[in-house]
This record gives sequence, C-alpha cells and structure tokens, in this order.
Amino acid sequence: MNRNLFNLGIALCALILVAGCFCRQDSDSGLSGDKPPVSSSTPASQAPSSNSSTTTQSKGKNPDKGDFLIEHLPVSTPRYVEIDRQVRNEKLLEKAADQLNRALILPEDITLRTKDCQEINAFYDPNDSSVTMCYELMEHFYQTFKSAGRTDEDSYDQMFDAVRFVFLHEIAHALIDKYKLPIIGNEEDAADRCSAYINLEELGEQGVKAVVAAADAFAIESKHSEGRIKNMADEHLLGEQRFYNSLCMIYGSNTSKYEKLVTDGYLPKERAVRCATEYQKSVDSWVNLLGPWRKN
Ligand SMILES: [Zn+2]
Repeated sequence: MNRNLFNLGIALCALILVAGCFCRQDSDSGLSGDKPPVSSSTPASQAPSSNSSTTTQSKGKNPDKGDFLIEHLPVSTPRYVEIDRQVRNEKLLEKAADQLNRALILPEDITLRTKDCQEINAFYDPNDSSVTMCYELMEHFYQTFKSAGRTDEDSYDQMFDAVRFVFLHEIAHALIDKYKLPIIGNEEDAADRCSAYINLEELGEQGVKAVVAAADAFAIESKHSEGRIKNMADEHLLGEQRFYNSLCMIYGSNTSKYEKLVTDGYLPKERAVRCATEYQKSVDSWVNLLGPWRKN
C-alpha cells in the first residue's frame, strides 16, 4: 500500500505524542487470530476494577444490567512496560469504556483489558466476558507499518488507528454474544463490518483513519503472508478480501468524498459500483441489531 492511501483522510495528529520503544519480535502471524487462547482464563482474584460509570436504569427496550469495566493486568514483558504506562496515563481503556457505557445498554458486565499475552492477538473471551487487547498486537502493527517504509511517528500513529479498528471488531464479537444477535453468515466478516460501521458513522475522521489503517495493515500483511491453504481454512476472510471490503465500506460511506479510491485504482470499479448499497445494508443491519440496546 503506498502513501496515497495511507494519507487518505489522515491528518496525522498523533493520538498519543510519545516515542515508541518497541523491539523486534519474531512472528509471522497476523490479524487472523482473535480467538481466546485455549489456556486463557482470568484468575478470580483479579477482579475487574470498575470505571466511573455505574449501572443505570435505562429508558431503552432492554434493562441495563451491566457496564463496560476496565482491567489493567500487570505486564511481565519488559519491552511493553513503557507502552503499558502510556496506555494507563492516557486512560485509553477508561475513555473507551466511558464512550461505550454512554451509548449502550448491557445485560451484564464486559471487561476491557490490555496486557501482554505472549502471542499476537486481540480477542473476546465469552468465558469471562472480556475483550483483551494484547501489546504484542500493537507491536505487530507498528512493525507492519515500519516494514512498509513508514516513519517511526507514522507507524506509531497508524498502529493506534489500526488498534481502534480491531478493538471495535472485538467489541462486535462481545455484543453478538451478549445480545445474542442473529448473524447469518461469517461472524468475522460481520464483526469487521460492525467496526467499519461504528468507525465511519460515529467516530468522524478518527474513525476513517482507523478503517484506512486496518485496510493498510491487511494489504501489507497479505503480501508477507505464507501458508495460503492454512489461511483459507481460517474463519477470517483473507487479508486481501478484508482490504477490499474495508475500502468498499469507506467508499460506500461517501462515494463522492472517497472517489479517488476508485479513480486512483485502489478499488476496482466492478466492486465499487455496489459499495454504496453494500455499505448501507451493513449500516441498516447494525442499526437494527443495536437499536434495542442503544441508550439514546
Ligand atoms: Zn474476530
């Protein structure tokens, strides 16, 4: 992916003005793994610490019996100590939980956590109703963008943008589970579309940057990808498909604003002609599915 797409909608106002300190990591796995590790479990003694939001009586169709809670687990990998400190200082989890709590009714609590996982991953675990964002995934994104020739600063910014897309993808898995939403088709694709919908409809230019960064990562990773047969057996769509789907969502959200995606050849016209309809169907579906769970 070249700089033109990277620059689309990107003002590069850093989400966090920090200097990254990630070191190289040997791994070839990418965005495909967002299932909880088989051995994953949170000790009962590590009870989530609640953020400031409290469970409230909602005016919505469904009773509000839960909150998004946050949990910062101790970091055991020295190279993640600094990014962990920054995530805590910037209160990124707290801000995300606060936004979600203001928007959504929950039938029970969902815990949001960051930690080092000893693997590149982000996942929703239905066993303890938690979304875990692994620092290894953030590092992986950083190295992915660096591998495409981006500067340290740009790679750091894009890392946080891509993480926002993945975070909302995992939130989608959590909502599908907690709301018992009917998903006809591939849940991974549905989660991608939910993330794109929330980013593009509700988060403004920051949201556009998130979908662009994710598309960018899908494209870069697909070039590095090996083991194609194994990839095709995965629940996730192939990186190339997720790339084009992401572009289709962006273009479909505003075909005149993002016309250059087509005229510059990133998105084939054969696909582009249906993206507005495709995007609207995704939006309508998620609006309907989340409607009974919206606070406003
Ligand atoms: Zn997923």
